[in-house]
Amino acid sequence: MMTERREERTPPHIVALDPEVAARIAAGEVIERPASVVKELLENALDAGCSYVRIELEAGGIERVRIVDNGYGIAADELELAFRRHATSKLRSIDDLEAIVTLGFRGEALPSIAAVSTVFIRTRVKSEAAGSSLLLRQGEIVERQSLGLPGGTSIEVSDLFANLPARRKFLKGRQAEFTAAQQVITQYALANPGLAVTLLADGQTVFTTSGSASLTEVLACLYGVELVQRLEHIDAERHGVRVRGLVSSIGHTKATRSQQSFFVNGRWVRNRILNVALEEGYHSMLLRGRHPVGVVFLDIPPAELDVNVHPTKSEIRFLREREVFSAIRHAVSLAIRQNQPVDSAVGASPPETDAMVQQQLIDLVTSPAIGPDCLPAPLRAMPALRVLGQAGSLFIIAEGPDGVYMVDQHAAHERIIYDDLSTQLAGNTVPVQALLEPSLVEVSAAAMDALQSYGDVVRAIGFDAEPFGDATCVLRAVPAVLSGASPSDTLQALLEDLAGGKERSEMQDRLLATMACKAAVKAGQTLTLDEMRFLVQRLEATSRPRTCPHGRPTMILLTTSALERQFGRR
Ligand code: ADP
Ligand code: MG
Repeated sequence: MMTERREERTPPHIVALDPEVAARIAAGEVIERPASVVKELLENALDAGCSYVRIELEAGGIERVRIVDNGYGIAADELELAFRRHATSKLRSIDDLEAIVTLGFRGEALPSIAAVSTVFIRTRVKSEAAGSSLLLRQGEIVERQSLGLPGGTSIEVSDLFANLPARRKFLKGRQAEFTAAQQVITQYALANPGLAVTLLADGQTVFTTSGSASLTEVLACLYGVELVQRLEHIDAERHGVRVRGLVSSIGHTKATRSQQSFFVNGRWVRNRILNVALEEGYHSMLLRGRHPVGVVFLDIPPAELDVNVHPTKSEIRFLREREVFSAIRHAVSLAIRQNQPVDSAVGASPPETDAMVQQQLIDLVTSPAIGPDCLPAPLRAMPALRVLGQAGSLFIIAEGPDGVYMVDQHAAHERIIYDDLSTQLAGNTVPVQALLEPSLVEVSAAAMDALQSYGDVVRAIGFDAEPFGDATCVLRAVPAVLSGASPSDTLQALLEDLAGGKERSEMQDRLLATMACKAAVKAGQTLTLDEMRFLVQRLEATSRPRTCPHGRPTMILLTTSALERQFGRR
């Protein structure tokens, strides 16, 4: 889908790169495990414009990786050259780097793989009379033949690291190696819905995609049909960055981020910032520890990227990281908000299975029969409440002199924490907790700028954080109130807040509100009666018990008179 397919079936010539050009391309060891072999060979198949590829793994690829494609093949008289270092058909001069559209370009994969294994390759360019095969052991050519073959290429890699026992020892078990390889294949299948991909493990089919060009269909093949009904389309452009793809609705999340994939101009990339941006698009609607599924394609002008960063190429650097971040967050947020059944006036949207409960409550309080007696209650002092119970793991139900109160547990807790933090900050006594081990946090360029400009504010609220390189900071201590939350996520969120660029005086408030949000109990958390009583008592004692630090209501009152009317008693 994203990869530019070459229509012509005749391959471009392979040439050895000029040593000067070769020297300027980031180089390095690329083959670490079967998954790296799979990645390189799959990229070659794609670069060769194939519409079909079959990957066979034996023992997770430790014993054998075999990849068959129907791409344009390698000319018989260039086959040996393809295994020479820095021989490539994809790059001629350093200027070509600016406009690279192929996945490979260093001319290193085949020689690197051949150096540490036994390779048997068979290939034929359709327009040539015959195909050819080459057998190499640890980089040395053992045998070459000319033979009849279908168009395309098949490569078999075995005896991986036979000559490097130390590296072989580093391989994990066959299951772990299989999982790693499968992850790679999955990403390429997602990036190329028009490509028919088949994966076999020890002779058994693991999955097959049809090549029908439908991303939804590929997702169904890879992650199951059930997911497909819970996907939202995203498609938006901002700052010249187009963001497209599919993300799961808030009701469908996973315990890990393993089902989040990002592609930049068709190339699978990994960069924590992208995951953070995706999840930010959901605002605070995700439960703690839950992650959405997402397949996100970014179209960015190649000149804005530096792909020449890491030899395995899955790492990428954006020249305008802040814009990329905001484009993703925006696109996701648009899709999620549009599909939220919740009246925004009532506050943050509900998570997960509690959506229905909240919708019913909203229906209740917005129904004309009940009318203006139900609030967000006006700003008068809060009466003492008697806790009755919890509804939908979202609301504390309590009784007061004038009716029944529904207290939003998260919003209420936010208010309590916010007030505590404000007092502590004023007295310069924010309790701090040192981390057992300093933690390295990857942050966006925008966040890094923010840390540099507002370091004092960040330290005052209890973070001991310092820049550590271009895109990382080292975190040594965090505000004690955050001990339950992920400190690195919170720091990233805070820095993003700061990067939003507001008056310095407003900054502190915003940071405290974000910290309160991260530290507060989440919607969806079941509370004991004692916990609820404690929350309500603490809330009563705060400066503004009826609103959370973001200004949303913490509670809604169903007045006795409204309830009586509703039951036809009045
Ligand atoms: P790179 O992909 O960086 O050019 P490789 O070492 O991976 O370097 O491959 C060297 C060359 O061999 C490629 O440039 C390409 O011309 C050719 N090649 C490799 N694999 C295939 C394939 N499956 N089909 C067609 N050509 C291939
Ligand atoms: Mg390659």
